[in-house]
Amino acid sequence: MKIMKFGGTSVGKPERMHQVSELITKDNESTIVVLSALSGTTNALVEISNCLAKGDRTAAKNNIDALEKHYRAFVITLVELEHNRAKANAIVAEHFEFLNIILRISFSDALNKDILAQGELLSTKLFCVYLEERGIDHLLLPALEFMSIDANEEPQLNAIKAKLSQILLQHPSKKLFITQGYICKNAKGEVDNLKRGGSDYTASLIAAAINASVCEIWTDIDGMHNNDPRIVNKTVAIEQLSFEEAAELAYFGAKILHPTCIWPAQQQQVPVKLLNTMQPEAKGTVITQEAGSVGVKAVAAKDGITAIKIKSSRMLLAYGFLRKVFEVFEKYKTSIDMITTSEVAVSVTIDNDAHLNDIVNELAPFGTVEVDTNQTIVSIVGNEIAKTEDVLRKLFDAINEIPVRMVSYGGSPHNVSLLLHNNHKVKTLQLLNAGLFGL
Ligand code: ADP
Ligand code: ASP
Ligand code: MG
Repeated sequence: MKIMKFGGTSVGKPERMHQVSELITKDNESTIVVLSALSGTTNALVEISNCLAKGDRTAAKNNIDALEKHYRAFVITLVELEHNRAKANAIVAEHFEFLNIILRISFSDALNKDILAQGELLSTKLFCVYLEERGIDHLLLPALEFMSIDANEEPQLNAIKAKLSQILLQHPSKKLFITQGYICKNAKGEVDNLKRGGSDYTASLIAAAINASVCEIWTDIDGMHNNDPRIVNKTVAIEQLSFEEAAELAYFGAKILHPTCIWPAQQQQVPVKLLNTMQPEAKGTVITQEAGSVGVKAVAAKDGITAIKIKSSRMLLAYGFLRKVFEVFEKYKTSIDMITTSEVAVSVTIDNDAHLNDIVNELAPFGTVEVDTNQTIVSIVGNEIAKTEDVLRKLFDAINEIPVRMVSYGGSPHNVSLLLHNNHKVKTLQLLNAGLFGL
């Protein structure tokens, strides 16, 4: 059995849904199809939620109406037969009625999650009506019946495995299943989600849960590129990556993959393929245990980073100092991305500054604390970078003019990370593209 996940742009237009239906029926292997919301929908739902959180019901209502109009037009082109249009319109009516009822209820975090779930519920149900019109046999698997996260917001792979296998066992003759990406139930039994871009995570979790033959992530680009194509002009697709390389790139900002979506597939050794819905014949990127080749493969950047420096002469020769520092971050459930030390100071970076003030206050007794916001981590990822001749010279020659705040190298042989002010990100990515890849 294989997994095929299609992102927002891959289902964002009726003709794209047509393409998807062709791709998922190409071979005979049983398939679970994971769909995102239509492109733009989750952003629109976030906006509706924000309006409600601010108490601006008029703006929320206007946004709901504009989104409904979009779906009504979508349905007209998606299906032709009268009874299918009626079915699709009833689905649209049901979900927009829900959004209109929410307008009258007092806003809460749980309600916010309910609002955000509407996109994937709509896209999958409408796609199923389309498949029906084309006479393609399938079954809708509601993700809320098997996808779950625990109290720490971590997916419960064992529970997902148990529930999903049970559901699949009930339908031995079905070969095509459609389900929602992104959405899940939390420890309180409420509707929740796997964070923005989370449909990739759903796909990888399902792939691990059923030990799929492959987890295909179909998107709007022909694979993982060597640099951010939104920022740098000349970028090229990478044919092969190891799970480690792909995980580093996803975590450090390569938007094509959700930051933590690699581990489930890696755990079960399910190959992940990144493919282009608009160009299905392109090779794409294959992610397996094997790295393929040695050397630098790609560069990615992660914004919104805060650097914290703790300087203390007491650190000199003191054991236990780092433990005390790390305990503060642990207390506030804030993970550290990068760390560098000197004999009298330690610098760390975080990407979640929700508890920054508390953290700084609790670090203050240990020494002088300095905070730099608006930082970006630029990660250079590859296989055995440390052993690759000349790579460090090329790297630092290329970015000679850029003021670098931190450098992390040696933590793994596959990564060099730089911390710099966000103002220097674009220039740095461009310089690295020329200096490391000759592009
Ligand atoms: P989907 O909606 O299919 O999940 P995303 O927008 O989440 O698609 O991811 C695909 C986009 O990721 C591409 O259109 C591209 O702009 C962006 N991207 C950022 N970095 C990279 C990279 N290194 N390689 C490929 N795409 C990247
Ligand atoms: N629809 C969700 C988002 O836009 C999940 C996804 O597309 O992966 O973030
Ligand atoms: Mg995505």
